[in-house]
Amino acid sequence: MKLGLHVGVAKGLDASVEYAQRLGCSAIQIFSNSPKTYRVAAADGPAYARFKEKRLAAGIDPAAIHTSYLINLASEDPKIVTGSLRLLKNDLAVAPLGGIAYVNTHLGSYGTRDRGAGFVQVVTALEDCLATIPEGVYLVMENSAGAGQLCGGTLEELGAFVRAIGHPQLAVCLDTAHSWAAGYALDTKDGVDRFIAEADREFGLDRLVMFHFNDTEIALGGHRDRHFHIGEGKIGFAGFRALAAHPELRGKMAILETPGDEADDARNMATIKIIFEGALA
Ligand SMILES: [Zn+2]
Ligand SMILES: [Zn+2]
Repeated sequence: MKLGLHVGVAKGLDASVEYAQRLGCSAIQIFSNSPKTYRVAAADGPAYARFKEKRLAAGIDPAAIHTSYLINLASEDPKIVTGSLRLLKNDLAVAPLGGIAYVNTHLGSYGTRDRGAGFVQVVTALEDCLATIPEGVYLVMENSAGAGQLCGGTLEELGAFVRAIGHPQLAVCLDTAHSWAAGYALDTKDGVDRFIAEADREFGLDRLVMFHFNDTEIALGGHRDRHFHIGEGKIGFAGFRALAAHPELRGKMAILETPGDEADDARNMATIKIIFEGALA
């Protein structure tokens, strides 16, 4: 698999590539903007062009943008939906500037509303984005921890979105910590095999373009979104080894969104690489 990190871009896109290179990444995920604002800043075209050039020269490919945490396509508030669509469409338009294939997004929460009506609204919003999506870019739905009324907490629901929309540039990202929190036991080979087989049945493994590899300390099915260091949580070495060894996941992208500073990132990257070396030996 192509392994990498979510890298902050507070110091600029150039620095994000240097950071990923220093830590031995072969993939990268960034934010295009502050993830906590509805404001859309104009993209710096030349900076994204340099990002692409530098990234490809360093062998860091593919790349992903993680959209803003404020995005909620299922909201009952039309202002929130409009703002969410503006953010998502902006990231889809920015992606080709940096040669970025994947725009990974949370779908949002149904809140107190009827799930059926919310589902239809999310489908309409995704179709709206896909109608103008640039060539070579994929709109990637990330699974959620399934808390409360969060969208996309099950493989079945992600499959329902894929079946309802059917667009070839709609894809899926599975976050291991969210999956665990949603009740999928990824701490054994059997659990991982069942999970991947279900993903294949629901939306097909071609649609599964990326993973977020995060360990977690919360209880299985605890519906809380807490990321922890690779191999130091409940998923543990056995779970990540099973993912690493799974023959149908070869070549896919996996991004770590583990907590901490550069020393933690270096340790987590080293750990996941050791797991892969062991699993593939
Ligand atoms: Zn996410
Ligand atoms: Zn994630």
